[in-house]
Order: sequence, then C-alpha cells, then structure tokens
Amino acid sequence: MMLEPGATIGILGGGQLGRMLAIAAARLGFKTHIACPEAESPAFEVAGAQSIIAYEDEAALARFASEVDIVTLEFENVPVETLRFLEKHVPVAPSAAALAITQDRLVEKRFMAGLGLKTAPFANIETADGLHDALHTIGLPAILKTRRFGYDGKGQVRITKRADAAAAFAALGGVPTILEGFVRFTREVSVIAVRTRTGEFSAFDVTENEHENHILARSIAPARIRPETAGAAIRAAKAVGDGLGYIGVFAVEFFITEGPEGESVIGNEIAPRVHNSGHWTLDGAITCQFEQHIRAIAGWPLGAPDRLCPVEMINLVGDAVAKWASLAGENTTKLHLYGKAETRDGRKMGHATRLNFKA
Ligand code: AMP
Repeated sequence: MMLEPGATIGILGGGQLGRMLAIAAARLGFKTHIACPEAESPAFEVAGAQSIIAYEDEAALARFASEVDIVTLEFENVPVETLRFLEKHVPVAPSAAALAITQDRLVEKRFMAGLGLKTAPFANIETADGLHDALHTIGLPAILKTRRFGYDGKGQVRITKRADAAAAFAALGGVPTILEGFVRFTREVSVIAVRTRTGEFSAFDVTENEHENHILARSIAPARIRPETAGAAIRAAKAVGDGLGYIGVFAVEFFITEGPEGESVIGNEIAPRVHNSGHWTLDGAITCQFEQHIRAIAGWPLGAPDRLCPVEMINLVGDAVAKWASLAGENTTKLHLYGKAETRDGRKMGHATRLNFKA
C-alpha cells in the first residue's frame, strides 16, 4: 500500500507532536484530521479537520474512521480498546498490540528483557508487603513506578530505606506498580528509529538527554558515547521494533553505565510515537522524525536519517518560553513555538535547535 498525496491521515492526540506531524504530512500533500478530547489543542491550528471526541465514544470514532484513510497517534495512552475498535474500520499504525505492551511498564520491561536487552532489576508489586519483600532482592535505592499512565516523572517515588515501603506504596495510590533498582548511569540517551510494514529499519544518530524535574530539558546529538555503545543502542532499538512488529517512528530510552568492561546500554522505556528527544531532526537531519513517521505509515520509501551538523535542542518549558525573543536573535538557531495560549509550570511551550553546536 502506498498512500497517495491528497489522502487524509487521522491523528489521535492534539498536542505539539500532533501539530508537527500534521505540518510534515501537509508538506507531502496529505490532509490531516486531528481527534482528541481537548477543545484547545495545539494541533488543531495546523490541520484541515478537527474532532473533539472522547476516546470511548464509538459513534464518534466510527465517524472519524470513515473520514480518514489511515489512523496514527501522537499520544501513547490512547486506550487500546479505542485502537482495536478503529482497526476494524481503517488501517491503524502503530497497532493496538504494540500500544498494549508499551502502556504497561511491567509488560514493557518483561518484553525488553525477553528480547535479551539489559534492564534495571525489576519486580511486580501489588501490595505494600510485597514491596517490603522485593526491596530485599532489588536493593536500595529503588524507584517505585505506577505500571500505567506515568510520564515526565509522574507516578514515581524513590525509596531509600525499607521502612518507607508502605508510605511509598500508598503515595502512588495503591495501584499496580513496578519496583526498579536504581541505575547509577553516567548518561541518558535515546534512539529515535523507524520501522516500515516490510520490516525496513532506520535510526537517527543516538541522542543524549538531560532532564530537569523529570522533564527533558536539553538534548544533544551525537551523544557523547563510544561508537560501539551507540551501535549497541541502535541494535537494541531494532530488536524492540521487530519484536513489536512496529510501523512508524518510535523511541527507546536507555541509561548508559560505565563499568570495568566499558559502557553498558540499559533499556528503560519505549515510546510508541515521535519523541521530544528527536526534535533536533526537524532542522538537523536530512529527513526529520515527523516526515519519517508519515512516510512509514503511508508506505512511502524512508528518507535518509543523516545528521547535518552537531546539534543542541533546548526545551522551552513553562516560563522559559520567554526566551523566545533572545533565541530568535541567534541566527543559526531554529525556533519552534507550539502556539499554546496558556503558560503553565512544566508545560512544553516550544523548543529551539542550535545548529553547528559546539559543546
Ligand atoms: P521514566 O519515566 O521511566 O522515563 O523515568 C524518568 C526519569 O527518572 C528517567 O529519565 C531517569 O532520569 C529517572 N529514572 C527512572 N528510572 C530509573 C532507574 N531505574 N534508575 C535511575 N534513574 C531512573
């Protein structure tokens, strides 16, 4: 299947990722239709059609499916049932099956371990007593995370002593959780990759990421890791993509540790969508992650992922968006503002990519 220009791509989710996907789709001659529950969505402004729908509203989903040629998503917590329903009416990429794995941190970690990837030691925790026991085997410090709906550090607590087990379990609301051993990493990196229906795979250069308050603050590419380490991360990402039978762009986040035997690559999280740490590709690569995703789901040949120069991407989170005016004055910096009316703490308002960045 090769989707022709003029076809309509439906996108579930109306945030900045949907906005940048819609812009990339429009450049290739596609129409886009954004569906999400929020009335004020940054993607609405750049798409030809918008539907404000609840993801559980089957009549609205059926209408949406009838108006588009393919459905994709920018939000990984779209209910799996929504995707299963849509799959009966229209091609959907990535699939409900892939989302079912990545939406649950425990299932996701077991999946990565099953592929032979290294992960932090982890355990399934269903009760406070279970947590108390598991801390014996996992060790301290450890991180307790909700299995579902965690992002940007939400739904996580760090545990430093066993006496805190009950309070930590209660702090997350008593929901199913996963306990992870604390990884003493030297760097955090991500691989942004793409896989097509026929199994073709391509990855951008490994990106190095810095977080502040659990939110991505800055990325640089290429990551300052050994070439063999970068190769191992990309091979791990390929195993993930193949294992999921994935179609489209996805990200795999890794911790890099340094030991006597050199650097190790530890799998942390899979994002079944374009990713914040891949925003540098908009300006710093021959093909950006958004175009690559549209090409993959549309059945087009992939573009080259080559990086054009060293890049730094800085996120404009909350009030930091006020830096836009000085960034606009840097003539090799590319500024991207998401058009969000209201600035809130922790809200991603835009980003800037510095080209020819020198560390
Ligand atoms: P996550 O939501 O799993 O991506 O975690 C958010 C951030 O918390 C990561 O980017 C790390 O900085 C930190 N983190 C999460 N899990 C661990 C771990 N097992 N060991 C050390 N740091 C972690």
